[in-house]
Amino acid sequence: MIDISFDDGSLLDIHTAALLEKYNLRGTFYIPSTGDLLPEQIKWLDSKGHTIGGHTVTHPECIRDLGKDLQYWEISKNKDTLEKIIGKPITKFCYPKGRYSETTKELVKKCGYKEARTTKVFFLGHSEDSYEQNTTIHIHPKRDEYSGKNWLKLAKEWWNKSKQENKKYYLFGHSWEVEKFNLWEEFEELLKYLK
Ligand SMILES: [Zn+2]
Repeated sequence: MIDISFDDGSLLDIHTAALLEKYNLRGTFYIPSTGDLLPEQIKWLDSKGHTIGGHTVTHPECIRDLGKDLQYWEISKNKDTLEKIIGKPITKFCYPKGRYSETTKELVKKCGYKEARTTKVFFLGHSEDSYEQNTTIHIHPKRDEYSGKNWLKLAKEWWNKSKQENKKYYLFGHSWEVEKFNLWEEFEELLKYLK
């Protein structure tokens, strides 16, 4: 059981989607309204069987620091925009930079979202609170939590642990980051491993 998601609506998400499809996988793409993807591209992702998720209008640096009205606007306006584009309800949200407060969570619920993803790593399975769904691995070469260990090695170790424990594995990343750190080959190696 695997849940793959990519944040930020980078143009490179089109490449990521094709790579996932090559291994018969589908992902959730969390897209801010100010992301680079055009409406046609968002529709295309949806038509290929990927899930579109909300990620606020402007991807604020720290949404929990904004006033309640502004937070509500960030969350609800983005949801409306994405729903108009794909013509179906958007039920999954991801907190920009993994930052949120109790107020942010309440507003996400109020807007009709069913779940929200964080950016915390080294968790397996459904989180107790579906509005704080943690992840297992971030496709990133040097998260503090990795303590200098190779991300791909960790990703494989955690995949084996998820199979042993029969718990869902949450992989997330940013296509722009995969590009920035030149991780495309390693990412594909992981996809092969997962299959
Ligand atoms: Zn983001």
